[in-house]
Amino acid sequence: MADARPRRLAALTDALIPAQLDALLVTGLANIRYLTGFSGSSALVLVTPRETLLITDFRYETQVAGEVGSLARIVVEPVSLWTALWQQLQSASGVRVVGFESPHLMHRDFQRLLEAGSRWQWRPTSDLVERQRERKDADEVSRIKRSADVATRALARTLPAVHPGLSELQVAGLLEHALRDEGSEGFAFPSIVAAGARAALPHAQPTGHRVAAGDFLLMDFGAVVDGYCSDVTRTVVVGRASAEQREVYEVVRGANEAASAAVCAGMTGRDADAVARSYIERRGLGDLFGHSLGHGIGLEVHEAPRLARTNEQELPPGAVVTIEPGVYRAGWGGVRIEDDVWLSADGPRILTELPRDLLELV
Ligand code: ZN
Ligand code: ZN
Repeated sequence: MADARPRRLAALTDALIPAQLDALLVTGLANIRYLTGFSGSSALVLVTPRETLLITDFRYETQVAGEVGSLARIVVEPVSLWTALWQQLQSASGVRVVGFESPHLMHRDFQRLLEAGSRWQWRPTSDLVERQRERKDADEVSRIKRSADVATRALARTLPAVHPGLSELQVAGLLEHALRDEGSEGFAFPSIVAAGARAALPHAQPTGHRVAAGDFLLMDFGAVVDGYCSDVTRTVVVGRASAEQREVYEVVRGANEAASAAVCAGMTGRDADAVARSYIERRGLGDLFGHSLGHGIGLEVHEAPRLARTNEQELPPGAVVTIEPGVYRAGWGGVRIEDDVWLSADGPRILTELPRDLLELV
């Protein structure tokens, strides 16, 4: 597989010209990983048309050499990354106007730019790297696919062990153990496990609440493989489903299937959202679908593009997005079914190969 990083850096330096920047200070860790391969938690990266500079601390001396190699000039700074940045900037000729990533710079660090860095002009930027990250290349899609496969296998291993009397925390523990065992480097986000009426809370944190027979059990979780996230939700019934549970479930399943089949590059985020939303509205449950249809996934679990009423932008080719309609009835429960879909040149491809039929754990 060809190394994608030089191409990504070249595209970024091309974007500096219309932005009238001599350089970009990259502080977002996912952006740093995307551009350089460095996966540590402490680094400053300065990208200029001439070179890429990566400053990190002594904890990462060995790791950075292995991950970044000769792609960037590496400076291992013993005291403060910022001290090294000022020193390096002073010797960088022709660098006067420097962009910084306004979503990824703490205010206290912004103050450093104005004080210790006052010799340079600092311009806020947003999404210069994120815009590139929206379109996944073949290697990224294969990493997300493997991440989706790990999540799928973890759920398949967990379900037979679920029974009434287990707490949400215990179910989360089984699921997370299975994720690790199947090869996940970590958890894409804190797993959501919600039973019974608590399934009506879209972002419920698992508690000691115990699963009872006849409960909906909603599980929303994700794996991380080679840095890339998956994000899956399945809702099952522990025991036999009631007619009302079936009815609500079928609405959400139909919305998921309609949106997963229709979503494609070139459609706006708003129109994608509308496919599922209008399906649910036509069945009289529109008021109970209170969140957006989905979001991009990649190095981060929530990234561009958004599948939401507020996004008038077209979905770019190559994006990988979640399709996650839900219906939540307070005091009763809820259903969400979430899949990961790649917007390939040949149309949508579902990466989470899991059945969507209502599963009754009996
Ligand atoms: Zn999710
Ligand atoms: Zn999601």
